[in-house]
Amino acid sequence: MLKHLYIGLVLMSGVCGFGQNSDEAHRIQAGVLGVDTHNDTAQRVLIEKADIGQRLPDGMIDLPRLQEGSVHVPFFALWVPSYYPGAEAVRRTLDLRDAMQGVFDKYPDRIELATRARDIERIVAQKKIAAVLTIEGGHQIDDDLGVLRMYRRMGILSMTLTHFRSNNWADSSTGKPEHNGLTEFGRQVVREMNRIGMIVDISHVSDKTFYDVLEVTSKPVIASHSSCFVYSDVPRNMKDDMFRALAKNGGVVGVNFGSSFLSQADAEELKKHIAEQGQLAPNVTGADLDAFAAKEHAASNEAHPQVGNSTVDDAAQCIDHIVKVAGIDHVGIGSDFDGIPSVPKGLEDVSKMPNLTAALLKLGYSKRDIQKIMGGNFLRVVREVVGE
Ligand SMILES: [Zn+2]
Repeated sequence: MLKHLYIGLVLMSGVCGFGQNSDEAHRIQAGVLGVDTHNDTAQRVLIEKADIGQRLPDGMIDLPRLQEGSVHVPFFALWVPSYYPGAEAVRRTLDLRDAMQGVFDKYPDRIELATRARDIERIVAQKKIAAVLTIEGGHQIDDDLGVLRMYRRMGILSMTLTHFRSNNWADSSTGKPEHNGLTEFGRQVVREMNRIGMIVDISHVSDKTFYDVLEVTSKPVIASHSSCFVYSDVPRNMKDDMFRALAKNGGVVGVNFGSSFLSQADAEELKKHIAEQGQLAPNVTGADLDAFAAKEHAASNEAHPQVGNSTVDDAAQCIDHIVKVAGIDHVGIGSDFDGIPSVPKGLEDVSKMPNLTAALLKLGYSKRDIQKIMGGNFLRVVREVVGE
């Protein structure tokens, strides 16, 4: 009798708890300092002239939805496709940097560039979005440390060492292995980034490059948008030994929300996309090259985004797995919004972040743990790398 009463109470609390859980999730999410270490929204700003000050009918990120989801510190990737050669990649990086400056200049009361932890805290306290800018692909420095240093002076806080293809000094997880990891110049790049207070990002690099970076770096590194290999065996995801090594370094991995990163059922979709990207070789320069990139961007918009086979619970599951393997201080959010071919149910855009907090509450996470996952851990890395 008592046992039945107990089961009845548990069932009732389960049913009623859904609303409570969601209310509590909204309350907790509203109080976090939210960091998301990767989005591809800068492509939309440059190519589509998307006005992210407005709530847009498409895409996954704009200023209203960032505020709704309490993602106060989005990392905007100034990504240049690997088919931009040498100096062309530098030119394209400057164009992306300029496009983002246009957003900062248009909405000075709502968004501001942040280049260190102190900026982030001040800007968020003023209820504005603290925008972080990043480089996505070491080819964008054109093998020149002077270019790297000037990127840092332009307010760029981190750099992903490769994109889909290996470059002249680092192997990519999805490119031909050409250097057995990092070359001597690649090691110099890592040391220089440590010295000038720029965060080394190991998403996209090959496993060997990852271990070479850990051998050289004197500062914590990040994986800005990678997920768990144990749940989806795409080469972009990280194995458990890598999570452990990253934890030893003091680094943090931002979980990628792409459905193909979270669910084996969608893994083939990403593998196909990577293979197609690897084939592109437009063989043009200047405005023709930009026109080619714009066409590629439009074609990818047309095909995506779709809702994949994963759900918000799969994102929570990958976070939970990393916590179990590496510890609560080494995981964060790296959505890859506006760059992923399909999204999980319940995490269709950045405004849906409270659903993830609800999923973490369901798994037993405390408010303090959720604050670390949602941004606290990445803020610590910014402070440790930049020094302020
Ligand atoms: Zn990427």
